[in-house]
Amino acid sequence: MRASSRLIFPALALMLAGAVAAQTPPPPIVKTEGLKQISPRVHIIPDNSVPLVPNVGYVVGEKAVLVIDTGLGPRNGAAVYEVAKKLGGDKQMYLVTTHVHPEHDLGAQAFPAGTKLIRSNDQVKDIAEFGLQLAEVFAKRSAINAELLKDANFRKADITFDKDYDLDLGGVHARLTAMGANHTTGDTIIWIDSDRVLFSGDIAMRAQPAFASPHSSLKRWMASLDQLESLKPGIIVPSHGPTGDGAGFITGYRTYLAEVRERAAAEKHAGHSADEAVASVTAAFGDRAPDKGRLTGAIRAAYAEAPPK
Ligand SMILES: [Zn+2]
Repeated sequence: MRASSRLIFPALALMLAGAVAAQTPPPPIVKTEGLKQISPRVHIIPDNSVPLVPNVGYVVGEKAVLVIDTGLGPRNGAAVYEVAKKLGGDKQMYLVTTHVHPEHDLGAQAFPAGTKLIRSNDQVKDIAEFGLQLAEVFAKRSAINAELLKDANFRKADITFDKDYDLDLGGVHARLTAMGANHTTGDTIIWIDSDRVLFSGDIAMRAQPAFASPHSSLKRWMASLDQLESLKPGIIVPSHGPTGDGAGFITGYRTYLAEVRERAAAEKHAGHSADEAVASVTAAFGDRAPDKGRLTGAIRAAYAEAPPK
């Protein structure tokens, strides 16, 4: 009895340790050595699909550099800024974030005072409404997250805008557009017309769309996809995951969200509750929507927005 349990236990412990190791994601550190140029004026640091790491962007003009997203906390922000300096030297630095979630925005305080942070008024609203709530959730997930987010706080904007902001970087322009409540209220896209590069934030990417805010709207999201498509992007840099050629991510999201909308509306029409709609639409998608949490968010938004019976 004793001998066999001695034999079994270490084997089981090893298996469990292996399972835990497999589930623990790599630390959320921006790997600056991955920096690469994707068009004449645009460089990115890919996220390598590591959770809580964003794709970081740089638009390099003759007189200024625009940085897009900061990484999680000041340590990542400092590393992202070092790359900006390498690319732009003493040029004026601007910073914009695709939205105010911690891995996109909470490294801003590590940029020097001379950097100009540009925010849509919707991002200012998001910060006022939700503050550091999500940062606190992330910090509780792991010791490294807690360490990276220690003393992290939102940086005040130097420039704010309502709907669109045209930034002249010298020989290249970046157009910043506030997209309304998709993933968050403050979703901002950045369009580099000369290079046909679109930083789409979380509005179009490979992973399923995340309805992360109580204000997230499927109706708004569908309209955003039309707006993104009308730009005819050559390259889409989403805020997470691989970059895409052409409009593939946009049409993928539209097909998925249209089906969610149609099925959720049918459920509502049939007099079923929101919970019943979640169950039946989730079953209908099956393996086509592996992220059940994200699917549920989309179904609830669609159900709420569907016309009453
Ligand atoms: Zn986010």
